[in-house]
Amino acid sequence: MKKIALIGCTGSIGRQLCGIVRSHREEYCFTTLVAGSDRAGLDALSAEFRPRIACLARDITSYSELFADCDVAFVAAGGFAGLRYTLTALKEGKTVALANKESLVCGGELVMKTANRSGAEIVPVDSEHSAVFQCLGMRRDASFKKIVLTASGGPFLHCSSEELKRVTAADALRHPTWRMGAKITIDCATLLNKGYEIIEAKWLYGTDFAKIGAVVHPESIVHSLVFFEDGACLAQLAYPDMKLPIRLALTYPDRQPCLEELDLAKIGALHFERLPVEKFPCFTLAVEAGKEGGSCPTVLNGAAEIAVRAFLEGSITFPAIAETVEGVLSAIPKEGADSYETLLRADTRAREEARRLIYGK
Ligand code: MG
Repeated sequence: MKKIALIGCTGSIGRQLCGIVRSHREEYCFTTLVAGSDRAGLDALSAEFRPRIACLARDITSYSELFADCDVAFVAAGGFAGLRYTLTALKEGKTVALANKESLVCGGELVMKTANRSGAEIVPVDSEHSAVFQCLGMRRDASFKKIVLTASGGPFLHCSSEELKRVTAADALRHPTWRMGAKITIDCATLLNKGYEIIEAKWLYGTDFAKIGAVVHPESIVHSLVFFEDGACLAQLAYPDMKLPIRLALTYPDRQPCLEELDLAKIGALHFERLPVEKFPCFTLAVEAGKEGGSCPTVLNGAAEIAVRAFLEGSITFPAIAETVEGVLSAIPKEGADSYETLLRADTRAREEARRLIYGK
């Protein structure tokens, strides 16, 4: 029986993991369930799965207690808030199934140092990084020449810059291939998400930015590719469904049935095209912040979390998401990224500056 501490149980990934546990009761149980703010959702899951600890994030008194008797810490909380859980679980020497991007985007250096110190394993849940992991024979330390992440391109791939000024939150929430939470769906539309995934890949696979690329693949069947020195290129293919990476993070190196087999003849064709980075400045802003390092990715992320919320509520236009992020990045000087406290300070400052730029206060 594998004991799971699930952080972010009422979100999109958390609920899919609950579904897997529900249909495999003999294999998995929850020791801990943490939800962001959905009290009713948490209560229902807690009554069903009877974990030892069930609480809302704001009611946590001891972070390390959350992971005391689990085998796997499944971190599926959204945003910068996920970093603290990842760091705590790794410090405790627990395997972390990582579905929170911001842990590596904001705290990559600190997270990898913490994992190396305790010897704890990090297993990627993001579909692209799970694909790379699989192409590397489920080893994060395998050698390769280049990683290429695939991007669906989001709903605005072929919009002109003029059209992008008029798109609404409802348009942006209509993702062509994946069903996900609102924040990440908007991040897919701005390509910020793909920039984040480049930073994640850098830390997960211990490589430089020069060896990580991205390509548009509208069908979302190829989840990423790895190129090797001899010219070989391996790709991982599956229907766009998070069940596979979620389940694999729990069973690896074993594989268990969870998705229907791909029908290649029915799919017919797979397409690839260049990522139109000039139309989606969030992508380059994220990669540049990643290269700059220190507190820069944390500042970028804090600003983006506020800007995306403002876009969702109709306070700013779609291009203003990138303008806000850029404005905040240029207003806040770079600091180190050596402790959670330093990063938290950078995150708080970035949010304040973003609110000031958007709402004038
Ligand atoms: Mg992804």
